[in-house]
Order: sequence, then structure tokens, then C-alpha cells
Amino acid sequence: MQVSSLSLDALQHARRHLRQKLIFPPVIEPAYRATQDARHRLPRVILFLVAALAFALAPVYGPALFQPTAEALPLLQLIWLAWAFPALALAAVATWRGWPQQLTFHLHTAAVLSLWAVVLLCSLFAQLGWMEYPVGLVGVSVLAVAVFGGFRTRRFIIGSCATLGLLLWMLWSLEGQPKAASRETYLIVIMWIIAVGGIVSLDMLSRAAWINHEYARALSQRDGLTELLNRKTFNDLFQRVVAQAARERRPVGLALLDLDHFKSINDRFGHLKGDEVLVLAAQAIATTGGQRPLDLQARFGGEEFVLMWYDLPRDLFVEQVDRLQAAIRAVRYEVPGTDRSMHLTGSIGAVWTVPAAAHLGTELLRTADHLLYDAKAAGRNLTRLETYPLPDVDGGSGVGAMS
Ligand code: GH3
Ligand code: MG
Ligand code: MG
Repeated sequence: MQVSSLSLDALQHARRHLRQKLIFPPVIEPAYRATQDARHRLPRVILFLVAALAFALAPVYGPALFQPTAEALPLLQLIWLAWAFPALALAAVATWRGWPQQLTFHLHTAAVLSLWAVVLLCSLFAQLGWMEYPVGLVGVSVLAVAVFGGFRTRRFIIGSCATLGLLLWMLWSLEGQPKAASRETYLIVIMWIIAVGGIVSLDMLSRAAWINHEYARALSQRDGLTELLNRKTFNDLFQRVVAQAARERRPVGLALLDLDHFKSINDRFGHLKGDEVLVLAAQAIATTGGQRPLDLQARFGGEEFVLMWYDLPRDLFVEQVDRLQAAIRAVRYEVPGTDRSMHLTGSIGAVWTVPAAAHLGTELLRTADHLLYDAKAAGRNLTRLETYPLPDVDGGSGVGAMS
């Protein structure tokens, strides 16, 4: 299961404003691009490979298809073999082999620009009478790369406008027969409109599908009030992380936190104020909790939260739990109708272990829960922390209590 790191608000905002723009806000766009790039990997490899092969084999079929003059043929072969083929082949290899993202991106750009430039050059040669030029066929193959390659729509529009302008300029400045020029202009412009319209609607549809899916995923994984992970997501991920820790012999630290006397906040100031305070507590938890990929922070239910740190030595875990409790104590909320503010406290049951078996997740939660009850019984605003498995009564090692 992959957890969406995007906030529900940001996703909802992007969904609402999708129609106005062909780009998501900067916090969301990179995630969209990453899925698009992954989805288009194979089509890109195929497209670049087919185009590269077409240029590699052009010396075989080119003379019959394009009927170049004897002087133009060597120049054409140079363009096909020494320019278009390497640029496209390199882009295909980079995509297939998964070369560094930035390098692959530049190679894609170079390949697409080369393709367009070769098309323009051939068009120029055709206007000069050096060769025949099946503009429809060539145009369709260029479009195939652009459409199915999943490249950025804005860039495609800018690039295709520039290419269109150049093509038309060549057509009208070099062509001696206005009738033929009108016919070709008609063909090229129609093709351009279909391509741009198609790409824009394709992009819009794929963005709508992606953002709706991301939003639904985030809604199903996160708690609607605090936006922390919900209990179900935590349960699934926690079991997996414990299994991984058991496999890799790594420690996990687990902390169950329950806000103290939370009911009295609701009773005195109303549930909406209570909700506000829960959000403040969740923010403190999200910023204090571990930030590495396998670390988790979730709303366990009501005013209870659970945090997990993966592969953290015991002394650092103790420090983190201490920071967590201090962060909850530092949460201040205004008392409605006064200029006073109050602060929260929380009780914590924490357990640290190197799981001996993959199935120990539930056992760890149970232990943390017992420790939390101990902390409550001992007066609240306390942490009870132990190393699991619990040592013998006279073993003594690893048991600690913090206040
Ligand atoms: P203790 O120190 O023993 O934990 O006392 P407590 O009052 O925090 O615990 P208790 O279990 O008695 O009450 C928990 C309260 O949390 C009751 C419930 O109304 C409140 N609560 C749970 N979920 C929400 C919520 O989403 N919003 C609000 N406003 N209150 C909530
Ligand atoms: Mg509770
Ligand atoms: Mg409570």
C-alpha cells in the first residue's frame, strides 16, 4: 500500500480548479508527472525505438518513397543516420534503462526536437524541389510520438505552434504554386488543430482521473478531521513494518498517546472547540513524529494517537517520546470568550523492541495500551516506557519510567 503524502485540502483545491489550468499547483504537479512518466515508460520506449528504426532503415526505402535528387540523397542520409537515428535511439535506451531522471528528460526533449527539426528540414527540401514529401505520413508519425509519449501539454502546444509557423512560412515563401500551398496549408492546419485538441482533452481527462483517484485514496487512508493516517491504514502498515523489522532485525518504537481529560474540553467549550484542539494536537504529533519513510503517525480513535519509529536506537526513542510529550504540553488553545489560553497534556504508553517474529504487532499494541493505562492511573501527563518482551521480575533490564 502506498500512502498519499498530499494533503486533502491541496487535493480538493486542485480538483476544483482543474478546468481552468492544464497544470496542478506546485505541491501536486511533481507527483502527477511521476505517475505519468511511469505509465508512459513503455509507450515511449516503443515509440522512440520505432522512430529510430524508421530512420535507420530510411536509406533502404527512402529513395523510392521520397525520390530525392542525386545531390540531395547524401545530405538526407546524413540527417537520417547521423542525427535523427542517434537522438531517437538514445532516448529509447535512456527510457528503457531508467537513466537518471534529469538526463532522460533532456534526451527526450532532444529526441522530440530533432524529430521536428528533421521534419521541417525535409519539408524545406521538398519546397526546394529536392525531394517528394508525404507530409501526411510524416505528420502522423510525429504526432504519434507527441500524443502517446505523454509529454507536457504546454510544451507540446508551444513547440507545435513554432513548428506550424515555420512550416507555413516555408510553404508560402518558397512555393511557386499558391494552389498547392493552400492545399498543404489546409492539411497541416487541420492536423495541428486535431493534435492540439486531442492532446489537451487527453491531458485534461488523465488529470481528472488521476486527481480523483488520489483524492479518493487520501480520503480512504486519512482521518477526515486531523488528516493523520486512519486506524485501518495504520493497522495495515504497522503489521508490515513489524514484519520487515523482524526480517531485518531492526528495532521499532511504538507510542500510544491519549489526551488527558479531553471530555472536559468538549463539556466546557463544545465539540467544535474540541475538534479544533484535536487538530492542534495532531499537528504537533505530525511534526514531532518520525519523518522517515517507514515512520508512522495515526489517529488511533477519538483523542488517542499512535506513533511508530522504525530502526531507532532505544536512547533516541526515549528522547523522541519525551519530545512528543513536551510538544503536546506546548499546545495552547484559546478559551472562547476570554483572552486566556489553556494547554493540553497527554499520557503515553511506549514500547521499544526488536521484533522476534513478524506477527508481534498486535502484541506490541497491547503492551503499549497497558502502559498507557498505567500512566493514566499514575496521575496522567506521564510516560510509561518499556522494552519488550517484558523482563522477569528480577531481570530488571530495559524497564524504564519517565515522567
Ligand atoms: P482521560 O484523561 O482519562 O483520557 O479522560 P478523557 O476525558 O480524555 O477520556 P474519555 O475517554 O472520558 O473521553 C474522551 C473524549 O474524547 C470523549 C469524546 O467526546 C471525545 N472525542 C473523541 N473523539 C472526538 C472528536 O472527534 N471530536 C471531539 N470534539 N471530541 C472527541
Ligand atoms: Mg481515550
Ligand atoms: Mg483521554
